[in-house]
Amino acid sequence: MASIALQNIRKSYGNLPVIHGVDVDIEDGEFIVLVGPSGCGKSTLLRMIAGLETISDGRLSIGGRTVNDLPSKERDIAMVFQSYALYPHLTVAENMGFSLKLRGTAKDEIRSRVQSAAKILALESYLDRHPRHLSGGQRQRVAMGRAIVRDPKVFLFDEPLSNLDAKLRVAMRTEIKELHQRLKITTVYVTHDQTEAMTMADRIVVMRDGIVEQIGTPLKIYDRPATTFVAGFIGMPA
Ligand code: ADP
Ligand code: MG
Repeated sequence: MASIALQNIRKSYGNLPVIHGVDVDIEDGEFIVLVGPSGCGKSTLLRMIAGLETISDGRLSIGGRTVNDLPSKERDIAMVFQSYALYPHLTVAENMGFSLKLRGTAKDEIRSRVQSAAKILALESYLDRHPRHLSGGQRQRVAMGRAIVRDPKVFLFDEPLSNLDAKLRVAMRTEIKELHQRLKITTVYVTHDQTEAMTMADRIVVMRDGIVEQIGTPLKIYDRPATTFVAGFIGMPA
């Protein structure tokens, strides 16, 4: 597990600045929800943490170590996307073990890690199936399983539930939170959904146009919104 520190993080695409100096300290084991309207820079920030996007300026550290120039695969991070991106021709077990296989992990080790992830995610009886024979919720769990088998220090989620119907979304929120309570892996969870933020976060980071408007517990954000934007976004009068 690991703490994450963002210090004056900036990002420009070409000469267009989109992140204008973000400071956030995330504690080891914390569940942080990054929330804000579409286009405010949530995915960009997450991708910088993941090492999938270069950082234009500022310092990013994970577990006390500056990682600005560390390649993604050396960051001990697992990312779950909204499109499940499962391999259709591979079984659930093969999907979950794929990244370990790429790294040359021994077969027995892969099998045992996939087994224990499947147990955590209630996927044990689906290991031999192909993704097309799974429900949306099961596919989402496989996507999480792929992340868990790598035993990451940090979990990053980018709008993982936005392809699911409303009922399933509520169920998956609970599952993701239970998973977090069990594994206590430092998590940064991106959503544009205020309800998701309010119900899942230890602390919420509210973003707007590439800056952080407020950081706080759901209760604090709700009770004492720092700006009219936050108040409006969370759905309360200022
Ligand atoms: P969010 O995830 O909050 O919807 P993004 O991080 O995807 O926001 O985008 C933030 C801003 O950066 C937007 O204005 C978007 O158009 C722009 N942007 C995102 N990715 C790129 C890219 N690869 N090249 C140029 N501009 C981008
Ligand atoms: Mg996004």
